Amino acid sequence: MRFELPFLPYELNALEPYISKETLEYHYGKHYNAYLENLNKMIQGTKFNNLDLENIIKVADGPIFNNAALVWNHTFYFECLIPENKNTLKGPFAEVIKRNFGSVEFLKSAFIKAVDSLFGVGWIWLVLNQNGSMEILPKSNAGNPLRIGLMPLMTCDVWEHAYYLDYQHRRCDYADAFWRLINWDIIEKRYKDAIS
Ligand code: MN
Repeated sequence: MRFELPFLPYELNALEPYISKETLEYHYGKHYNAYLENLNKMIQGTKFNNLDLENIIKVADGPIFNNAALVWNHTFYFECLIPENKNTLKGPFAEVIKRNFGSVEFLKSAFIKAVDSLFGVGWIWLVLNQNGSMEILPKSNAGNPLRIGLMPLMTCDVWEHAYYLDYQHRRCDYADAFWRLINWDIIEKRYKDAIS
């Protein structure tokens, strides 16, 4: 196995009641693992076998791109989360958010609206663009901002397998739940790494 499934940084039931153990069993244990196994099979004997995941995402197309990006995106997504109220948005990083979006509440409402209005399946990203400001970026399917030179800070999986067991068609409720579980310490660390 070239790429291996990273450990979840929390227990499968740790995000309840917002994201159920059953959802994580399927999402982490089945979907994520399947993309990883697909990728490992597809790159065998190809020029991608010696590249790291980010470089595969930057140069591959078709099924290899899709599976590589979905592995990267899921790793990044699961790292964005933590049990409720563990790492809240406060202090200097809350000020950075206010500088970029006017207020934390504005970012939250823009994020929820983006999750709700994404057509089909994909990912809602918080990214740092080339001039150092943050924006919300919707991407369809396996889309990843690294591909267009933007630095990802946070992502929300808007494929049905991420929320359907818990929320069915109620994407706004899923987005609101995701917001409660964001690990802001991780987002802040990614931001600092990106600007340093
Ligand atoms: Mn997913």
